Amino acid sequence: MKTQSPKRVAILGSTGSVGMNTLKVIEAHPKEFTVVGLAAFSNVERLSEQARLFGPKAVAIGEKQRFPELKSKIAGKVPTLLAGEEGVTELAAMEGADIVVVAITGAAALKPTLAAVAQGRRIGLANKETLVMAGELVLEKVSRHKATLLPIDSEHSAIFQCLQGNSNGEIRRILLTSSGGPLRDVPLERFGRLTKAQIMNHPRWKMGPKITVDSATMMNKGLEVIEARWLFRIPVEKIEVLVHPEAVVHSLVEFVDGSILAQLGVTDMRIPIQYALSYPKRLPSSLPSLNLVQWKHLTFEPPNKKKFPCVGLGYQAALLGGTVPAVLNAANEACVRAFLEDQLAFPRIPGLIEKTLRSHRLVAKPTLAEILEADAWAHEEIRCRMKRLRP
Ligand code: MG
Repeated sequence: MKTQSPKRVAILGSTGSVGMNTLKVIEAHPKEFTVVGLAAFSNVERLSEQARLFGPKAVAIGEKQRFPELKSKIAGKVPTLLAGEEGVTELAAMEGADIVVVAITGAAALKPTLAAVAQGRRIGLANKETLVMAGELVLEKVSRHKATLLPIDSEHSAIFQCLQGNSNGEIRRILLTSSGGPLRDVPLERFGRLTKAQIMNHPRWKMGPKITVDSATMMNKGLEVIEARWLFRIPVEKIEVLVHPEAVVHSLVEFVDGSILAQLGVTDMRIPIQYALSYPKRLPSSLPSLNLVQWKHLTFEPPNKKKFPCVGLGYQAALLGGTVPAVLNAANEACVRAFLEDQLAFPRIPGLIEKTLRSHRLVAKPTLAEILEADAWAHEEIRCRMKRLRP
């Protein structure tokens, strides 16, 4: 019997939540996968520990000033050490990787993702901002370089799994589920009095700080609508958001004949990560089975768009297209950062983003440079608007 050599995996953002779960999946399947590259933004401690455990060929640290520290910890143990945004991008395009897992948060993932695409790699995409900012451009390059883009975002993985064996033309609608976030049951009037800890307390998923705030505003769903639009190449009008607090059903696809397929499972990112790595195969997993009897009731409701205007902003940006989604993403990123740094009150986030969208001059069919320009413009716009907010 012929044994296949393991698939070689590079992970961008290996010290974050998705990155660490990717390493757990790889560790559980040593015959199937091996680690060849690891990149992180600033967590030198964890990155060097991972490098010692997995023995990659290359390691990159995004924050340049941490490079000496990285060197002192693992020099001689790893053949190639890289630093800065260029270093992470170089690692994304490294020789000898079959799969690149993109688990970096935010706009910083765009250039490394494009670099991996240009090498024709399989990309496991956990970062949604890349497709939000530059969906059309990324897809065009994916086709040109014969790269493969597979979703790791749990809802998109669910949709992707439901679509196996069917074509996009057979989709009547996509039902993108949302847990509703930590503020689903909190009245809008109370948003101003919530503590950061209450806002950051997601009921179903343990995730990084950016995406947790995005869940509280439900901007996460707004961004995911745009992500789905590109991943599955379907019109925005065919995507519906459905709030499902139990987060047992990870999304559904309704086909033209009225059949609906759904993907269910325990809320553990290792399932979508493993599928993106093993696709089209499925591999065993040690995760517990989903106990449906224990759940008894699964509930679904439409999103409250008045309480969570960010869902509507996502649709608006998707419909307008051009540079608008990049502005939406950047304005949101700037607001979330300001909130996390205690510079911006939570209830102000949607209004600031909306005003920024309204004052943007759309560029249709933007180039990468124009997208990055729109991104920088939106960051600056939020900075100026926040100054005016202060007494
Ligand atoms: Mg998601």
